[in-house]
This record gives sequence, C-alpha cells and structure tokens, in this order.
Amino acid sequence: MTTPSSHLHPIYTDMPVTIFEHMSALSRELGAINLGQGFPDGAPPAALLDALAQAANQGSHQYPPMLGLPVLRGAVASFYHRSQSLDMPPESVVVTSGATEALAAAIFAVVKPGDEVLLFAPAYDAYAPLVRRAGGIPRFVPLQPPLWSLDRESIVKAITPRTRVLILNDPLNPTGSVAAADDLAMLAALCLEYDLWAICDEVWENVRFDGLRHASLLAEPGMAGRAIKIGSAGKIFGVTGWKVGWIVAAPDVAAVIARAHQFLTFTTPPMLQAAVAESLDDPQLADACLAQWAESRSALNAALARHGFAVLPGSATWFSCIDLRASGIALDDCNFSERAVREAGVASIPLSALWEGDGMPRHIVRLCHCKPESMLNEAVEKLAAWRSTLE
Ligand code: PMP
Ligand code: GLN
Repeated sequence: MTTPSSHLHPIYTDMPVTIFEHMSALSRELGAINLGQGFPDGAPPAALLDALAQAANQGSHQYPPMLGLPVLRGAVASFYHRSQSLDMPPESVVVTSGATEALAAAIFAVVKPGDEVLLFAPAYDAYAPLVRRAGGIPRFVPLQPPLWSLDRESIVKAITPRTRVLILNDPLNPTGSVAAADDLAMLAALCLEYDLWAICDEVWENVRFDGLRHASLLAEPGMAGRAIKIGSAGKIFGVTGWKVGWIVAAPDVAAVIARAHQFLTFTTPPMLQAAVAESLDDPQLADACLAQWAESRSALNAALARHGFAVLPGSATWFSCIDLRASGIALDDCNFSERAVREAGVASIPLSALWEGDGMPRHIVRLCHCKPESMLNEAVEKLAAWRSTLE
C-alpha cells in the first residue's frame, strides 16, 4: 500500500527531530556523557517518591477531573502565593501534561490565523511550530549576548497591527538569563499599549541562583487578565519524565484554555498529580532541589574555568553557556556539538538550533550542569583534551 505522503502536514514532513532528541539519541548510541538535553542524573527527592508510592498504592488510577486534581490546583495556587506573592485562586489553575501541553493549549486558545506572535530569540524550540500550526506568524526579536537583555526599541519595531501575543520565557532557556524588574514593567506597558496577550513560560521560575527571587509578568499591574503563566513540576523537582505542568490565568481565561486542553491530553496521571501536590505543599522540598543545583552549577562553572573555557553570565536554569571563540575554539556551534559528541564523547546543545531570524550567534553552546560532580569533571576534561587536538 502506498502512503499518501503528500497529504501529510508540511510543517511536520520538513521538520527535523528536536536538537534535544538528536543529542540524547547520539549520546545513547555512542555512550557519550550527555550534557545536552536538560535533565538531572540521580534519584529524585525521596519525599516525592514516597508520595508517589502512596498515591499509586492508595489513590485512583482512573481519569481525574479534566481541570486537574483539586488538591493540585490548590497546591499550585498556594505555592505561588507563598513563593511569588501571587494572588490567584485555585480556579485559575489548569493542570496539563507538562509545560509543553500547556504551551500548546495556551497558543491554540489565543492565536488565530494570521495573528503575529512576538518571540525572543533564542527561543525554546516548541514555540514557533505551535504558533504556525495555530495559523499564526512568529516574529522574532533577537536578543544580544552576553546579557540577552530585552530592548524596548527592537520590540516596538517588531510590533505591527496584526501582533496579538508575545511569548516570554523567563528565566530564559538556553541562556540562563533573567528579566530585570524594569523589563517586566516595560513588557507589561507594551502589552497594555498594544493590546497583547502575554504567554509567560516560567518553567525555570524556581531554578534561580544567587538568592534571586522570581517575579512573574502576570503580577505586573494590568496583566492579570491578559497573561497566561506556565509552570512545570519537572523543573521544580527535577523529574522531567513526569510531565506534570499547569497554566495559571484569570479564571475566565483559564476556562477557555481548558477547552483546548480537553482535546489535547484531557488529563494527566492522577498519582503524579497527587505526588506533586504533596511536594509543593512541603515548604523545604523545592528549596532542597535548588540547593543541590546551585552546587552542580558551581562545580561545572569551576571545571570550565579551570580548563580555560569562557562561561557566559547566567543566573538561572540547569545550563551554562560557553563562548567558543573566547575559549579558543574556531568551530561554529553546530560543528562543535556534532564533533564533540563523537570525538570527545560529550553532548552539548548549539545555541543556533534554538534560533530563527536575524542576528544568530554561532559561537555559543549550552551544557547541562545538574549531574554528579565527577561526571561534570570528566566531561570538561574530555572537552579540554579534545580542544587541544583541534587546529
Ligand atoms: N519551556 C521551556 C523553556 C523548557 O525549557 C521546557 C523543558 N525544558 C519546557 C517548556 C517543557 O517542559 P515540560 O517538560 O514540562 O513539558
Ligand atoms: N527543555 C529541555 C532542554 O532544554 C528539553 C525538553 C525536550 O527534550 N523536549 O533541554
């Protein structure tokens, strides 16, 4: 039987697999150290696993409510009240199967055919394809290394009468940079002036170092009715495979996004939801995870500095970025990553894989630090030894 392949959607037929999948598959095949895709090595917190075991043994295994278990919706609302002084009731929370599904539901709920959507480059890889699948047109505003600051003038230049939405990822993956308080106020003012929705991908909100507290664009004056905040337990507790996420928005907005969610995944496994709810209620657990990642971040950055790699500034996420040029490496980022995984046995992510539009830097790669120190040291030693063989 022949496949009517010409009827498959061209968005997907012409699309490569994600850079994360590509690098993880290569790492598995080659037995390389995987500092590419972001995930912690080692066991998750024992309390989280205990809560999961209890929910699995004593709780339901059937469809939970479409909006999420009430106990988790309440726990998310209290967590944000406690940690970010956000005043959003449980009715503003819709539980999703990871932040990826939350992004899809939010984008499908607000983007109509022909709408333009502002994205900041580098951009998480899911945004542009989802916007396009919704019939929207992504407009990229490039950010500049090393600080990746938001620049009002270039944002305003990218706004047209068709612009309806901006997507802000703060803290920003892959750079680890965070929006300054002034930037959030500036973006909120632009949303009000140009009547824009803000989709706020804040999955890294709890992975901020050096005592920096997270503030959401949703908390800015006037934003409660036009911002959709997205979070993920995968990042808060280091369990990326769980795929428990959520959106937080004004209850009437959340109710509409839930209509998109009900035909994407409909629900999320109840035992995972119950375990996340219990863990969010524990005042120490998220902080304990953060303390561990602060150590792994220091360990990776120290090893990189010892071996003469130039690390870009960053104060959040599980990632550190290396400036290849400043580290004495003439390869571009894609060549570096493709060769390093094969020749040095270390996987990384080239920043240009997360970039569309103008101004793409090709001299920066991302490394994931939430690994045991011995693994980080071995990876950096391998990279340094390999660098010395390059011309
Ligand atoms: N947004 C960003 C910025 C991310 O970095 C990630 C995952 N690393 C996601 C969304 C997806 O999160 P989840 O695994 O919960 O779907
Ligand atoms: N967001 C993860 C990262 O940045 C990857 C998620 C995925 O592979 N889809 O590494």
